[in-house]
Amino acid sequence: MKKKIAILGATGSIGRSTLDLVERAPERFEVVALTARRNVSELANAALRTGARLAVIADPDCLTELSRLLDGSGCKAAAGPDALIAAATGEADWVMAAIVGCAGLLPTMAAAEAGKTVALANKEALVTAGGLMTDAAKRSGATLLPVDSEHNAIFQCLAGSRSEEIARLVLTASGGPFRLATEQQLREATPAEAVAHPKWSMGAKISVDSATLMNKGLELIEAHYLFGLPPEKIDIVVHPQSVVHSLVEFIDGSLLAQLGSADMRIPISYALGWPERIPTPAARLDLVELGRLDFEAPDPKRFPALRLARQALESGGGASVVLNAANEVAVELFLAARIAFTEIASIVEEALESFAAPGPATIADVMELDCETRARVMASLKASCA
Ligand code: NAD
Ligand code: MG
Repeated sequence: MKKKIAILGATGSIGRSTLDLVERAPERFEVVALTARRNVSELANAALRTGARLAVIADPDCLTELSRLLDGSGCKAAAGPDALIAAATGEADWVMAAIVGCAGLLPTMAAAEAGKTVALANKEALVTAGGLMTDAAKRSGATLLPVDSEHNAIFQCLAGSRSEEIARLVLTASGGPFRLATEQQLREATPAEAVAHPKWSMGAKISVDSATLMNKGLELIEAHYLFGLPPEKIDIVVHPQSVVHSLVEFIDGSLLAQLGSADMRIPISYALGWPERIPTPAARLDLVELGRLDFEAPDPKRFPALRLARQALESGGGASVVLNAANEVAVELFLAARIAFTEIASIVEEALESFAAPGPATIADVMELDCETRARVMASLKASCA
């Protein structure tokens, strides 16, 4: 029987790679629902190509255009938050959660509550509501499959082992475009330089997060919720070649790693095919051509975001929500050239220091804390400009 697929965030970097794999194997997969924020033409094209039955545009202002493009196709056009949830909880049995940011939390959570197999790319959903999401999956019987390359690597390495056998997780980080930059160069870094990732082609927000290393901080929190290990058992090592995607150390001293080219279609395919493997067109590694693999410790002075994320995870409560919301606001301001690159981490640090919040008990609490943090960050920036 074909897997019925919904892709939330179908027009993004992960969404497109997922569509690419799904469209290569029409005998295995059937696309039932696709969503996007505002890119109506790409969404409609993908819906028409794949024969999806539901296309959802998050921005209601784009619905008329989407309806026009899909007229007569048999694909229903819809818009707004409830329609996003309908795409996540409807016909599909496999849901790719690839909306960027906390904006993806509600539909991702809805898919988990509805007992779907959820391929989790949207790391901000786990950072802000990891405990609530894994609890919901336990209750509903949903399966959460990590798509982030590091977590997918760990998931692959853990296959067949028991949790008592795990000693430590090691997340690898490419180091981003500024791995060798001086503090002065970091202060002057432009959005164009920050999104030019040396190894991966990704959306703008995660590219900036990779440049500050906040991405690795978010991944530390993500790993904690996905694999249930305490923060002190999750290490981070910089590995500029991005070939070893992460490692697991077991209690006997063995380390298992997953290696592959820097192509997200490999981890996405593992989640798509799971529990089987399926072929991908990703480039194969040539170890001899590669020659060497380097590893180094991250520099906490030039990349404070890593420390802030660890601190947020250790302090618990609502700190991870505050960290994430302040970071999302700061990254947007940086991309709009309104703040300097190095201000991203200072804005997050200030938000964490000035805003101690209790742990959210529900998704509504998470959303409220997210909104409140964004408002406070903006207010404090306005006050400091005045
Ligand atoms: P992207 O910016 O390329 O795409 C984001 C998608 O989400 C688009 O389809 C966009 O239309 C949709 N979207 C954006 N804002 C929305 C909103 N407010 N409401 C509804 N839809 C909205 O991002 P991406 O690089 O594909 O990343 C998606 C997620 O996957 C992120 O959480 C990222 O951290 C994670 N991730 C990405 C990669 C990668 O290689 N790109 C790797 C690991 C994890
Ligand atoms: Mg990653």
